[in-house]
Amino acid sequence: MNPREAMGRLGPTTVKFDIGRGGGKPDLTNQDIAAALGMVPAGLGRELLEACWWPDGAALRRHKLRDAVIALVTPELQRQQRRLAEARTDLGLAEVCIGWGGAATAEQRANRDAAQQRLGRVKAQCWPISTLESLPTLAMAVISEIARRPHCASCEGRGQTLSGELLMTCKVCGGSGLGQVSDRRRAAAIGRDESTYRAKWRVVYEWMLQQFGESEQEASWALQRALSSAA
Ligand SMILES: [Zn+2]
Repeated sequence: MNPREAMGRLGPTTVKFDIGRGGGKPDLTNQDIAAALGMVPAGLGRELLEACWWPDGAALRRHKLRDAVIALVTPELQRQQRRLAEARTDLGLAEVCIGWGGAATAEQRANRDAAQQRLGRVKAQCWPISTLESLPTLAMAVISEIARRPHCASCEGRGQTLSGELLMTCKVCGGSGLGQVSDRRRAAAIGRDESTYRAKWRVVYEWMLQQFGESEQEASWALQRALSSAA
């Protein structure tokens, strides 16, 4: 059974659902699904599973999602700030060496230029200063993308295509089965124009999408295991 579909059957009520397993086997009930969900390790993945596929349930636990997102993002922000501080210090040191006790040498100038370039690269990789304030918007946009991501049109979401009698990894989506979402759509989802998105926000959006996607996928596999042992 698709664990995400199972989640979708969990409504705000406690009605028993017949999820059509047939074959005389007992059907998984709402409670079975909720119990299986309880066996998924706590953390970002489980919160995302709920936020993506069971919004009624996630609404009750929104602060847990917030805490998990903050726990994911904080170390990365700190790492970026450390790299930035190091690159600034390196540049300051290279500048102070120039002409210390004599004429500036070509080597000293080259060191300063290299430090300047390194600082430029580090800055370009840093997330925008207002990332923390924008975190709720970013997180909701990424969650909504995961929950509504289109299937790859080429393989219809299977991740593989049939070439003669051979199953090949789909070239269009690289086997993920997922369709492309445009920068324009992502920019609109976080309330920015496309050029600002590309210049400033794409780096953090794509990072979050990658991290959220992996966490959600792992949690989904854990739910699937729990569901099949419940069946
Ligand atoms: Zn594909």
